[in-house]
Amino acid sequence: MSEDVEIIVSKGDNSEIEPIFRGVVVGRPTLCAYDETIEKRDIDINRAISLVEEELRDKFESGGNSGNGEIFLAQRELLKSITPERGFKSLDEFKDRINIEISKIEDSSLSSKVMDFKDLEQRVLSRLGINRVLHVPDRKSILIADDILPQDVERIESSNIKGVVLTRGSLTSHSSILLRSLTIPSIILNRDIDIEEKISDEIILDSIRCKLILSPTEEEILEAREMEDRLNLEDRESFQSRFEIAKTQFGKKIKVLANVTDLESAKRAKDFGADGIGLLRTEFMFKEKRPTLDEQTNMYRDILELFDDVTIRTLDIGGDKSLPYISIPEEDNPFLGLRGIRFSLYEKRLFEEQLLAIFKAHSGRHVKIMFPMVSQIDEFTQARDIAKGVADRNNIDISNIEFGVMVEVPSLILAIKIFDKEVDFYSVGTNDLTQYLFAVDRTHDILKINPLSPILISTLRIIRDTAKRPVSICGEIAGVDEAIETLINIGYDRLSVSAKLIPNIKSKIRSM
Ligand code: PEP
Ligand code: MG
Repeated sequence: MSEDVEIIVSKGDNSEIEPIFRGVVVGRPTLCAYDETIEKRDIDINRAISLVEEELRDKFESGGNSGNGEIFLAQRELLKSITPERGFKSLDEFKDRINIEISKIEDSSLSSKVMDFKDLEQRVLSRLGINRVLHVPDRKSILIADDILPQDVERIESSNIKGVVLTRGSLTSHSSILLRSLTIPSIILNRDIDIEEKISDEIILDSIRCKLILSPTEEEILEAREMEDRLNLEDRESFQSRFEIAKTQFGKKIKVLANVTDLESAKRAKDFGADGIGLLRTEFMFKEKRPTLDEQTNMYRDILELFDDVTIRTLDIGGDKSLPYISIPEEDNPFLGLRGIRFSLYEKRLFEEQLLAIFKAHSGRHVKIMFPMVSQIDEFTQARDIAKGVADRNNIDISNIEFGVMVEVPSLILAIKIFDKEVDFYSVGTNDLTQYLFAVDRTHDILKINPLSPILISTLRIIRDTAKRPVSICGEIAGVDEAIETLINIGYDRLSVSAKLIPNIKSKIRSM
């Protein structure tokens, strides 16, 4: 066995190691370092800021390299929120402002945003000619860093860095989300590494078993390499069979659908073998500016042309998502306020216009429309009545449109028998359901709920056993490797997940 420098702790064993993305990699340990260059540029701080705003908007619009475009939109909003109306007087004033923001949140539940502020600062500095980019090694490596910036992840994407160990960080930080979508084996260690002397030339990161072996034996390296090759081969095989339907060994067909935000991500989902769209998060097209009826209609039409099975979720605004052109009354607890369908019933014109756009786009096709954050039957019936009114007034036949609800507020579960009489389908949003079941903010950095909590699993079982209408799952749990078999055994046969996961999930189902 290796010596005391190996860090082997299995998950569930008081381990503090958190896997960001699971996999095995053998590589040379590389400590995080930056290459710095300075070139003279003739622009001022405010011009640099607006260039960064444009850059982030472009990244958002192109979906980011990884399909996580919304991260860049959130960063852009953060940058705007700290920029005074008349701009900054100097670079120093900008830097001071960043430092103030960081010191406000450093030890708070929002500390994962610290890296976003640092990222923004660096993006602005680069525009001024002060470049500082992650050093990428020329040999296959495992990066060891305290924490990294979202822009560092962009650099990792096509580099020799094939594994990442963060000694600190959070699974919900933007860097972690981006790493996950790059599908690079990565972990958060939650401790420091003593890098003096004892690290070998090659180390093993096994984020499947939550192991980091800093001075492995030759046998361990051989074994890890075999595992790495096998996983890579499996990935390639899964990718090749991604368009085939997923059926368990017992012959049970499971639809693997995609969660998307716009046409671009829907096209990507098609490339990854999605059997349809299980969740179209429409609010992303509303965030920047109010889309016109035609713009909306075109987007829905283009997406409906890609797939036969599409579930469109109406606007899920409120909570931490606001619209620059609509004012919502100030709320003490926005996550418990005018969110989802409650917002749509409050701001009916936007809702009616969205429904009309979907109706116009559907051209008789079968489409599912789903309302978010429904907690009582009246919210659903009111929303559906509004929809019917829109269709009647515009003489559109919507007999092929089904209406359903997200199951994300626990009160709905207690009323499923009542909902069964009204809705056509359900889709369980485990992200919010977990937040409201446990009364823990889903973005909280300190309080963390086990995504496979037995309480959540039994809740999912209750929903499946009680509901008489079709139920799918579109929350993150549907893409968690360890959860899939349980979900299928409980009786779920429609899983909606992020597109990149689809090939592997289909393979997993075929092996069950
Ligand atoms: C959920 O809450 O699980 C969900 C899928 O919706 P969102 O993450 O968009 O709130
Ligand atoms: Mg939700």
